[in-house]
Amino acid sequence: MSHPWISDRAMSFDASGIRKVFELASKMTDPINLSIGQPDFDVPPAARQAAIDAIGSKKNAYAMTQGIAPLREKLQQQVQAEFQHADRSLFITSGTSGGLLLAMMAMVNPGDEVIVFDPCFVMYEPLIKLVHGTPVVIDTYPDFKIDAEKVRAAITPKTKLILFNSPANPTGYAASEDEVRAIAKVAAENNVALLSDEIYRMFCYDKPHVSPAKYNDQTLVIDGFSKSYAMTGWRVGWAHGPSEIIEQMLKVQQYSFVCAPQPFQWGAVEAMDIDMQVHIDEYRQKRDRIVAGLRDCYELATPGGAFYAFPEVPLGPQYPWKNANEFVLKAIENQLLIIPGKIFSHRDTHIRISYAATNQTIDRGIEVLRRMAKAK
Ligand code: PMP
Repeated sequence: MSHPWISDRAMSFDASGIRKVFELASKMTDPINLSIGQPDFDVPPAARQAAIDAIGSKKNAYAMTQGIAPLREKLQQQVQAEFQHADRSLFITSGTSGGLLLAMMAMVNPGDEVIVFDPCFVMYEPLIKLVHGTPVVIDTYPDFKIDAEKVRAAITPKTKLILFNSPANPTGYAASEDEVRAIAKVAAENNVALLSDEIYRMFCYDKPHVSPAKYNDQTLVIDGFSKSYAMTGWRVGWAHGPSEIIEQMLKVQQYSFVCAPQPFQWGAVEAMDIDMQVHIDEYRQKRDRIVAGLRDCYELATPGGAFYAFPEVPLGPQYPWKNANEFVLKAIENQLLIIPGKIFSHRDTHIRISYAATNQTIDRGIEVLRRMAKAK
C-alpha cells in the first residue's frame, strides 16, 4: 500500500530498475563504467567561459519563457534554412526532457494512444502515463528498423502521437531516409502528431541525419545541447513545430519550468559556433572499436549513431544466467557496469553498452564481455 497522499499518477510507473543499477554502481570501487548516457568530453572551453561571463555580468535573472533572443534567433535561422516551412515556431526548453514533458502535457488527453518503438528511451512510457495516455508499443527487434507499415496497423481512432527517436537510445539505431520518409507519411495520412526526439542528431556516423520534419511539416522536433556539447547539467534544449502547438507548450512552460537557466543559454549561444566534428570522429572510432570487439561473440546490429550498442546476451544451458538482467549482475561481479535492456524494453534479452568512455575503458569492457560470452 502506498502512502495515502501519493497520486495514482505517480504510482502508475516506477523507477526502481535504474535506481538498482546506480545503487550497485555506487558500491563498486573501480568499475569499468559503460553505463553512462553522456559524452566523456567536457563542455568546450569557449562555451564554459560564456556561461561564466554571463554569471559575472549579472545575467542571472529569469529569462523570457521562450528563451533569450540571441539563442532563439540563432536556432530559428538554422531551422528555417533547413526546412523552409511557412509555419514553424521555436522556443528554448529546460533540456530535451523538459521539451518532451511539455509536448505530452500540450497534446495528450487521458486515454489517447501514443505509439512508441520498443526498445526506447526510459522516459517515454512513464511520460505517457504521467498524462494518462496509453502507450502502444511496436516491437523493433532484432534489427531495430522502423517499419511504417507496423505503425499504420497500430493506428486507431484514439491514436494521438507517434514518439520517434533517431539516432536512438538505447540501440544506437539511425533510421534510413526511406524509413523516415515512410513514418512521416503515415503520420500525415492519418492526421496523427509526430514527435521527433533529435538529441543525438550530431552523432551520425555513416550517413547524415534526416528529420521527419523534412517530409512532414507538422512534425514537432525536440532537441537539446546535452549530448552534442556535453552540457547535460546545464538543462538547455529547444523545440520547434507548428506555432499553435508551440504556443501551448510555452504556456505550460510558463507555469512549470518558467525558463531554461539563463547563464547556460548564453553558454549555448557560444557553443553553436564551435565545431564538434573531432569529437564525432572520435566517437565513430569508438563505435567501430566496440563493434569489432564484440561482433564475433554477440548478436549485434551495427549502431549508426548516438553512443550506444545494444547486443543480445547469449543464452543456453552453458551460461549461468537465464536472462539479460542476470547477465548484468554477473558483469557487475566482474566490475563491468552496463544497463539491462529491460529498462528500455518489454524484453529481457539485450544489454545497453555506452561507449562514451575512454578507449582503455572500452577495451577493458570488451575483454570482460568476451570472457563472459565464452563462459562454460
Ligand atoms: N531523449 C533521449 C533519447 C535521451 O537519451 C536523453 C538523455 N539520456 C534525453 C532525451 C534527455 O536529454 P536532456 O538532458 O536534454 O534532458
